[in-house]
Amino acid sequence: MSRFWSPLVHTLTPYVPGEQPKLANLVKLNTNENPYGPAPEVLTAIRGEAADSLRLYPDPNADRLKAAIAAYHGIPPGQVFVGNGSDEVLAHAFMGLLKQPRPLWFPDITYSFYPVYCGLYGVDYALVPLAEDFSIRVDDYLAPGEGPGAIIFPNPNAPTGRLLPLAEIERLLASRPDCLLVLDEAYVDFGGESAIPLVARHPNLLVVQTLSKSRSLAGLRVGFAVGQADLIEALERVKNSFNSYPLDRLAIAGAAASFEADGYFRDTCARVVASREWLGAELTALGFAVLPSAANFVFVRHPGRDAAELAAALRSRGIIVRHFRLPRIDQHLRISIGTREECQALVSALQEILA
Ligand code: PMP
Repeated sequence: MSRFWSPLVHTLTPYVPGEQPKLANLVKLNTNENPYGPAPEVLTAIRGEAADSLRLYPDPNADRLKAAIAAYHGIPPGQVFVGNGSDEVLAHAFMGLLKQPRPLWFPDITYSFYPVYCGLYGVDYALVPLAEDFSIRVDDYLAPGEGPGAIIFPNPNAPTGRLLPLAEIERLLASRPDCLLVLDEAYVDFGGESAIPLVARHPNLLVVQTLSKSRSLAGLRVGFAVGQADLIEALERVKNSFNSYPLDRLAIAGAAASFEADGYFRDTCARVVASREWLGAELTALGFAVLPSAANFVFVRHPGRDAAELAAALRSRGIIVRHFRLPRIDQHLRISIGTREECQALVSALQEILA
């Protein structure tokens, strides 16, 4: 605390990201990174860019990357916004689109950065409880009365991994045509179906994705949004009032190359999904309740063991998973899907701990 702080800074409760430990040889299953490296084409593109041009500022509009994303998804480049990780894209959406006279609605159990952005930008919000089985019920967002000013949730949701079918998303969009829905698809490539094709018919939809998870580029910091041009313009206006160059040259080159290396991307996603199904079955056999997951993590609870103690016991064996001290989920663990060897190490450690 300091008398030099602004009044706003005194009120902030910042987001706490998952630990990035400095120790080597840990089995790191706490921040939903991809266990496989990025596509070789991405590394080649980054090396080429680094050799050539770091002296110069990057393209402030990252047109090359927008064109690659647009071509990949079969949409006009004017419907694409890019930012420094999807966290930055989301931050701009909170300021530029989700801050409305009526409160923003999002689930009580969801990405815990959302309330932090609300605090930073002064966005009023209301929590909509997930169903008992941790699913999102669209009907809860359609209840009669003073509706939301806007809605945001991840699909699949985090940290639960549960997927809402696209038909339910479309029902929500069609039933609330005057309310913007920001759909955070950080994990959609691991078993969901993207809502990007719905953008053409629904001016009230903004889809946000990241290259951090399915494209193995958490360290490059690239995310993007897809929506009709007027929504994209709002994000550009915020971005150009904040930082002209949020994406550096390496990020633009590497991210664009990632969309051109589709085979590698599909193959690594399929491997993660196969390991998720394997791990889910193994954890179930160990007595865990495992939520159905369409993401690169599983959300699990052991009926007989305290979650914080399990996390600590795993940690003492060099395995890090994520435990949230939050209402309704403080007996759950979120476990990222590692390589098959890492998943096997986790299962062996849990066998020992539970014995
Ligand atoms: N949305 C969700 C639901 C997430 O879990 C994350 C990762 N913490 C993000 C967005 C942000 O990812 P990034 O900034 O790496 O794109």
